[in-house]
Amino acid sequence: MTELIERLRALVGAANVLTEGDLSAWEQDWRKRARGKALAVVRPGSTVEVAGVVRACAAAGVSIVPQGGNTGLVVGGVPDASGRQVVLSLQRMATVRAVDRDNLTMTVDAGCVLQSVQEAADQAGFMFPLSLAAEGSCTIGGNLATNAGGTQVLRYGNTRELCLGLEVVTAAGEVWDGLTGLRKDNTGYDLRQLFIGSEGTLGVITAATLKLYPKPAATLTAWAAVPSVAKAVELLALAQQRLAAGLTGFELMGRFALQLVDKHHPQLRVPFVQDSPYGVLLENSDSESEAHARERFEALLADAFEAGLCTDAVVAENLAQAHQLWHIRESIPLAQADEGLNVKHDISVPISRIPAFCEETDALLQREIPGVRLVNFGHLGDGNLHYNVQAPEGGDHAAFLRQYEDRVNTLVYDQVHRYNGSISAEHGIGELKVDKLPHYKSPVALALMRSVKQALDPQGILNPGRVVHG
Ligand SMILES: Cc1cc2nc3c(=O)[nH]c(=O)nc-3n(C[C@H](O)[C@H](O)[C@H](O)COP(=O)(O)OP(=O)(O)OC[C@H]3O[C@@H](n4cnc5c(N)ncnc54)[C@H](O)[C@@H]3O)c2cc1C
Repeated sequence: MTELIERLRALVGAANVLTEGDLSAWEQDWRKRARGKALAVVRPGSTVEVAGVVRACAAAGVSIVPQGGNTGLVVGGVPDASGRQVVLSLQRMATVRAVDRDNLTMTVDAGCVLQSVQEAADQAGFMFPLSLAAEGSCTIGGNLATNAGGTQVLRYGNTRELCLGLEVVTAAGEVWDGLTGLRKDNTGYDLRQLFIGSEGTLGVITAATLKLYPKPAATLTAWAAVPSVAKAVELLALAQQRLAAGLTGFELMGRFALQLVDKHHPQLRVPFVQDSPYGVLLENSDSESEAHARERFEALLADAFEAGLCTDAVVAENLAQAHQLWHIRESIPLAQADEGLNVKHDISVPISRIPAFCEETDALLQREIPGVRLVNFGHLGDGNLHYNVQAPEGGDHAAFLRQYEDRVNTLVYDQVHRYNGSISAEHGIGELKVDKLPHYKSPVALALMRSVKQALDPQGILNPGRVVHG
């Protein structure tokens, strides 16, 4: 191993091969559910260096864990406990390579933090619509590797839909330059789509060509108090009918989720927190004037009120108020963490079936664990819920997790399966769900996935034990 470390130092510089001191920023996952031990954390500064690192590790038979901002939620980007894996951090590769105004694209290094990509797009007069609560630290490479969703999927799609090209270092240490920026290219298999969502198991993404969009002329945000999940789904249908592509966000938040924000972050002043079983955050982005857009948005909410789809609503008066409403939504994961350990889910179900799914699953959970508290919130417009489960009031959170995590997971995932849903809507599989996948994915699909892994990484050096067992 000393030889490999020396080789890596020669490739990327000794200062960029970390082997000693506190490496927890790279070895521990964001949720603090997993803590590994790396042989080394290697921080290359260019694609050529990444390729060199991959070749050196492959020659030494040492596996590699690619890592961006380490905000992943499924234990996919941290090393195992063996002390024999190299963490390949893309953080130093953070240059915006080019903006092509006429092609409406920008090409960026994989280690660019999402927020800096949004800012670069903004400075060039455009918008890059991917947006999620971790945007201040997650990287575009990590977003692509997990096919991240976020709050604008309803209008702009997942990260997959926002990418027109990739540069990837393969498991053999070769560089595939697919940074074409083409919107049409049917010359065989779409390799880009193979790497997107592969969670570092098929190749190391080193750069991407991303789609840019015109900035909306007006963006309006509203918060509605909603009596039930069923009414929220009806409100979604009405909003889509009235606003069409203008509807860019539709987030559902259960009362207990909002009460947690109220308890742990009282300065955020959650609207209608005591009066309503659910809150819905709606966002309308339009190319028409603000006055026009506001009129249409307020008419939608008035009609929703008349129809009993909401019992109250408030439209943000300005950008600061809109940010505050979004901040409440984005504070739910933090408030939940402040409350204590919990069982997290990231599921999707066809939108039409969500009300029945929630009603039935809530009842089953209450029967199994009386008093259990549901932190139900998520991107209802995409059929994606973070259907999280917290210990009963006053309970010991760690003991709850030890005793119930497996039972809760099985109950929820079996329900998701019955409803033709997915056990991972946007966070991926990582290590956390790798043993669950065979129960819920068809054998044919799993066999195809294994064939792809075998073909692209026959030596099994890229992020082994994640997504699919070889
Ligand atoms: C507060 C919070 C809110 C979040 N909200 C959302 C949300 O709304 N929607 C959503 O989808 N996710 C969300 N996430 C999850 C997380 O932010 C995303 O999964 C994000 O895309 C991960 O990016 P990262 O750079 O941190 O990747 P990492 O955590 O470093 O890695 C994630 C995975 O990608 C692989 N990987 C990373 N970089 C590369 C690369 N360059 N090449 C190949 N593989 C790579 C890693 O090996 C790992 O398997 C949230 C997380 C937090 C902490």
